[in-house]
Amino acid sequence: MPHIPDKRYAVVSCHVERPLDDACWSRFASLQARRPGGFRIAALMRPPEVAAGEDEERWLERARRAAAQGPLGQHTHFVSPDHARPAAPGPENAGRARREAEWLRAKGLAPTLFCAGGWYMDAALAETVADLGYADCSATAFRPGYLSDDAPRLAAAEPVRLALASGARLLELPSTHSLGRAARAVVRPSLDAAVIHVYFHDTDLLSARRRLALDATLRLLGRRRQPIDLDELARLAADVAPEVPFDTAFRGRSAKPGQ
Ligand SMILES: [Zn+2]
Repeated sequence: MPHIPDKRYAVVSCHVERPLDDACWSRFASLQARRPGGFRIAALMRPPEVAAGEDEERWLERARRAAAQGPLGQHTHFVSPDHARPAAPGPENAGRARREAEWLRAKGLAPTLFCAGGWYMDAALAETVADLGYADCSATAFRPGYLSDDAPRLAAAEPVRLALASGARLLELPSTHSLGRAARAVVRPSLDAAVIHVYFHDTDLLSARRRLALDATLRLLGRRRQPIDLDELARLAADVAPEVPFDTAFRGRSAKPGQ
């Protein structure tokens, strides 16, 4: 089975939950500019909820700044700024992702990555994300503690190409290590994951303890792995990542669209 030529890579992404919160944003922006460990951190940004009074112009200014410092992704919260995971499966979830993608493009942004709020996924959403030309970061290498066994989500431990029912392929670059998991992994003698994808949230940066842990973890990881960014990983994996049927990676009651 073909594999990425050198698998000793690591990438980092941030779920930018509160792009309009100055305390959160300023810390994220300075971290992204500083590149600890040599990492160009991908900003997976939640588009603004204009109906809830979020300032579109300020959001765009910040998204452009993030895009100049690293890969840019769309991080869809399906219900509201504070409620990431959809209330229920249904076609409206794929619809929301597409509307947000169209809005981002109309504003001149060119995100390359997608990450679903609350690690949600369904078959229709996967088709939409593939159709939009994104690489997806919604899969995780572990079950997030707050989700039940049958909650709809994707499970993958390394980059794969998901074969969708339409025949399309979705490049999946799973999130493998939370900040806590990464902090424990980097001090172990062996780092066993094929490709390490560390993710954190901008809200983590409000805690001095977490800021220090993130900084130390990325510095160590950057010495132990080749630091690349998610766009480079997508290029490396695009033609060689193993192909996996969507239903093999999907966890949940039904992978059928609309159910
Ligand atoms: Zn989020």
